[in-house]
Parts: sequence; C-alpha cells; structure tokens
Amino acid sequence: MIVQALALGLGLASLSATAMAAPAAVPGGSYVITDVTVIPLDTDEVLRHRTVLIRDGKIARIAAQGARTRVEGATVVDGTGKFLIPGFVDAHVHIATEGAIRDSKDPAMAALELGRDHAYDRQVMLSFLKAGVTGAANLGGSAGSDEDLLWLRGQIDQGRIDGPRLYVGKRINGPRAAVAIKPESTPSASRPEAPYTAADGIAAVRRARERGYDFIKPYQFLNRETYQAVVEESRRQGFITTGHLPELGCASCADRAFAFAHPMTNIAHSEELARFARIGSDLSPNDIPALAQAVDDSGVSVTPTLITLKTIVGMYVQREVPSVPGDWIKLVDPVTRLDWTPPANRYLSQAFRDQEGADTFSAGYDFARVLTRELYKRGVRLTVGTDAALPGLAFGVSVQQEMIELREVGLSSLDVLRAASINAHRLFDPDAGSGAVREGERANLVLLDADPLADIQNVSKIAGVFTQGRWLPMAEIDRRLGEGQAFERGLGEQIERLKGARHSAH
Ligand SMILES: [Zn+2]
Repeated sequence: MIVQALALGLGLASLSATAMAAPAAVPGGSYVITDVTVIPLDTDEVLRHRTVLIRDGKIARIAAQGARTRVEGATVVDGTGKFLIPGFVDAHVHIATEGAIRDSKDPAMAALELGRDHAYDRQVMLSFLKAGVTGAANLGGSAGSDEDLLWLRGQIDQGRIDGPRLYVGKRINGPRAAVAIKPESTPSASRPEAPYTAADGIAAVRRARERGYDFIKPYQFLNRETYQAVVEESRRQGFITTGHLPELGCASCADRAFAFAHPMTNIAHSEELARFARIGSDLSPNDIPALAQAVDDSGVSVTPTLITLKTIVGMYVQREVPSVPGDWIKLVDPVTRLDWTPPANRYLSQAFRDQEGADTFSAGYDFARVLTRELYKRGVRLTVGTDAALPGLAFGVSVQQEMIELREVGLSSLDVLRAASINAHRLFDPDAGSGAVREGERANLVLLDADPLADIQNVSKIAGVFTQGRWLPMAEIDRRLGEGQAFERGLGEQIERLKGARHSAH
C-alpha cells in the first residue's frame, strides 16, 4: 500500500524516510474509565455509573461501577461527572494537505517550504481531534491532496499519526460544457477524468477502486447516462456514493424524477435539494413536501451542511468572513487563512455578488432549514457535514457548529449526536460495527465534562478523546498543537514575505 502510494503520489515528495521506517505503534493499550455516564446512541438509554474497559482499540467491557474490572497495567481515567459518547464524524470535508499546496497554480505557493514529516498535515489532524472528531469523510480535492490522504489514512490506522479515521472520496465530474443549457463551447472528448459517456463514467469508478478510495462523490455536471452509470457502477464495486444532484435542464441532463429513480446513497448538501426546487431563480416553499417525499421514497440519506449555507449567506450579507468560535482561529493555518482572504476568497468577490440568484441566498438557507426539519420528521437519516475549510469554517469546531444548527431546526439532542456519529459511521464504515458505545465496538470516543443531552453546546466541553483506542487528554492535544505552532509561524512568515514582495512589485 505504502509502496504504491510512493510510486503514484506526486504530492509525496517530502515523505520522510524516518516516518516510513518507524515501527507500527502498538494499537491502543488498556484503559479503565471509572464511574462515567455512557450515552451509547444506538438506543435512547443513558447508562449511569459505569466502568468502561478499553483494550487494543476496542471497547472490551461496560460494567456497573464497582464490578471487578481491575486490569493489570491499565491507565485509569476518572469519569466522575463525565459523559462518554461516540466520536464525531464530519461527513463532508475537503482536507487540503501539503499536496494541495504543492498543486497550487501559483508557483510561489507551490514552492513554500513545508518542513519535514508532514508537519502541516499533522496539525490539521490534531485540530479534528481537539473538537472530538474521530472520523472525517473527504469529498474530493486536488490530485496531490488525495494521494496524501490515502497515505495519511494508513498512517492513522496503524497508529503512526494521531488523527480521525479518514474516508477518502473520489470526486467524479463531467465537463460543464456537456450539460450546459446554452453551451458556450463544445467539450473536448469524453475521458474518465471528465466523463460524459457511460463507459468513461464506469472507467472512472473502476480506477477509484484500484487506487483504494473509500467512496465516490458524483458531482453535478454529469449528464443523464454518465450519472446513472457512475451510481450503478459504484454500487457494483461496493462503493457508497455521496455527492451533488445532477444538473437539470439540458437535452442530455437527468430530470428530477430520474435523479431519484437512480439515487445516490447520500446527498451531500440540503442545498442540492433546494436547487432541485428552483424554477428559474424562484424558490417555492410549497415544493418542500414533494422533495422530502422523493428523498424518503428513494431511501437516500442527507448531509444538510446548514452551517455551510449560513456561512456563505453571512459572507454575502456582511461582506466579511464570519468569526470562528472561541480561540479556534489560532488553529487555522496560514495557507488556509490566505484562502479565506480576497482575492482567493471567491465568496467576497464582486463576481459572486453579481451571479443570478445571489439575492435569494438567504431564502435558500431558510428553505434548507425547513426542508431539513421536514426530512427529520419523516425519519430520513441525517449526518453532520461542514464543507470545511470553506472560508469561516475551521476543521473540527465546525462540526460542533453544525450540531447546533441541527438542534435549532428541531432535532432532539440525542438525534443530533446520532447525526454527528453513528449515522455517519453507518454510511462510511458499514462493515465496522455500529459505532455506538457498546462492547466490541471500535473505541473512537469523546469524554465530555458536561451533559450533551442537557445542552447540545456541551459538545465543546471535551475532557479528552479516544482515537483508535488511544487516550488523548485535552492537555496532551493542546501540548502537541502548541509544538506545531513554531512550524506554522514559519509558514506564516514565508507567506508575509511573499505578499510583501508582490506588493512592492506593483
Ligand atoms: Zn464539498
């Protein structure tokens, strides 16, 4: 696997020999959490005063407090007054790794000195853990970034790097010109990298299988035959699909009924459904029951990404990037901050403001909220996703922001926690148990200092995280993030010099 990554990975030039040669870390170790309240999430139960034994990456035992659970050499974690829940999963992120920086079209950015041992990527992985995020599904990025993530996925699984379990998606999209209603140009010949024939769509899915991706993200510029071929071949290959709904309105496009007759496993934004409700630029709330019915009938699940829409609307209305909660802005690395600043931040551009329908973005957010509530009432399975690091959405904490969004549209706190954990687990890792806090399950867990059922905001009060069975108290996560600060300062200084040089050149 690693050899294959090296052979194919253009973005892996900095892969250090020392990191490669490091022996596989012993997974987990043994831990006993004493007198803790367990919220398993596969039922409505709340189990008070439990002793939980974690061994070799798994939850070995959950017993009543006082039962004989002495384990030689186990680390004891005092769970008194604390709450143990499944770790969170971001079901929609775009993790830009070192490879994404090297893929930059700007040669000066591509040449940034990124240090050794994936220092940049390690900080990002730790910021997920700091927020209790022990799983993250990447919905596509640059070629170099995808290669990095496939490599990081293995390093994290083997305990060599601490981070969330990564699910790496392959984005498959056709050329815009192939579905344009008024084509400005004819597309170049169909190919698996930009397919508009069924054969090339199938080839794209097969390549993703060979390369070891975890799932497929169909994107919206797939025409009818290619969209169907991608969805069906994915199913044959054992892939789940989560992505955008196909573009409507051209001669070779899918229509609304067709998209639901050949459904993906999951729709990656509620906004995609809002797009299906638009006639011209008009958005009618009367369409909500019909859309919710179509979703329900087709059996597809949905990642509403309400915080994403709220953040975009915020940029449109306030003309600035909404503030990041608490101190989290300190964990947003200098390259991402540059992406959040004009001219890189397209959401603050005039072109973005000038596009047709921009004046209804706020209404689109309202529509998505009411629709999400309707989906919830019908029992459609929802997951928490953020589209981080879209400007304003930091990795990790944005998951907590989306949980609050879902609570505000009427999900119970239990169902918010489910959307943020076991629902995504079932979507991306269906063969690895239920993801609940139960004996035999993988120990990806969050220990909270306060009751999340009393107030969903308590999901930010994290005592520590079990990732693949290894305990990382918050102080340890903060210490390691602190160690990476010197590297990030150096990166920030490089970017400042770059901006300075550009300024004086004008
Ligand atoms: Zn996305």
